[in-house]
Amino acid sequence: MIMNMCEVTEILYEGKSKILYRCKDEVLILVKYKDSVTAFNGEKSDELFGKGRLNAAISNLIYEYLEVNGIKTHLVKVIDESSVLVKKAEIIPAEVIVRNVAAGSFSKKYGVDEGVALPHPTVEFSLKSDTLGDPLINVSHITALGLATSAELEEMKRLSLLINELLSGLFQKAGIRLIDFKLEFGRAAESGELLLCDEISPDSCRLWQIGTDCKLDKDRYRRDLGGVLDSYEEVLRRLQGVEL
Ligand code: UDP
Repeated sequence: MIMNMCEVTEILYEGKSKILYRCKDEVLILVKYKDSVTAFNGEKSDELFGKGRLNAAISNLIYEYLEVNGIKTHLVKVIDESSVLVKKAEIIPAEVIVRNVAAGSFSKKYGVDEGVALPHPTVEFSLKSDTLGDPLINVSHITALGLATSAELEEMKRLSLLINELLSGLFQKAGIRLIDFKLEFGRAAESGELLLCDEISPDSCRLWQIGTDCKLDKDRYRRDLGGVLDSYEEVLRRLQGVEL
């Protein structure tokens, strides 16, 4: 039955870390996670055998947890260890970044040391554009460019803060501190309803081990710290150990 639903017809799009296949059922897409890892807008790239499987497993676990907690996501069905069936959605080209602790571009831009806890979570948007390098963009820019409505942006912000609370709790139980993360939302193909899309994995989050501040995320790759796959494996192992 599922195999009929996701009978693949052609590649729709190949990105840096995933391949999207068109399905016979037009409201579905088959997503295959690749083993590629990239940073700095694709300037640095490598193949890490097994990364696709790890990110798929971590993201699926998180999306299932979010669904149980009332967040509508694009996830339909896990197909195999690196492939999932998702609802087709029109991706809103404004990525949402939520931060609990200063790190990365926030630390650089605003001169705050990495690791400084923020008094409240911050939410920002960045334009999803590889050619422009995903610049920071504000709500007024986004509506002026017709990328999303004010109501959609308000809802994205509300959902992102709720997801932050849910994920911070989940990771804390796994002995991990959620520093920051990126989300993507889309409009479902038929209903137009807002869905959480893309993935949530150590590629799109900063995750520090509680007690040691050891980095368990893509910064290990960006900053040549080594042990990238081991740290992703550790995140999965810890999440699997949490009673959901
Ligand atoms: N992030 C992402 N994709 C992007 C940009 C950022 O997944 O295109 C994630 C990144 O992994 C981190 C958070 O969003 O968890 C904040 O990233 P930041 O703005 O600090 O940028 P970076 O320092 O990664 O360039």
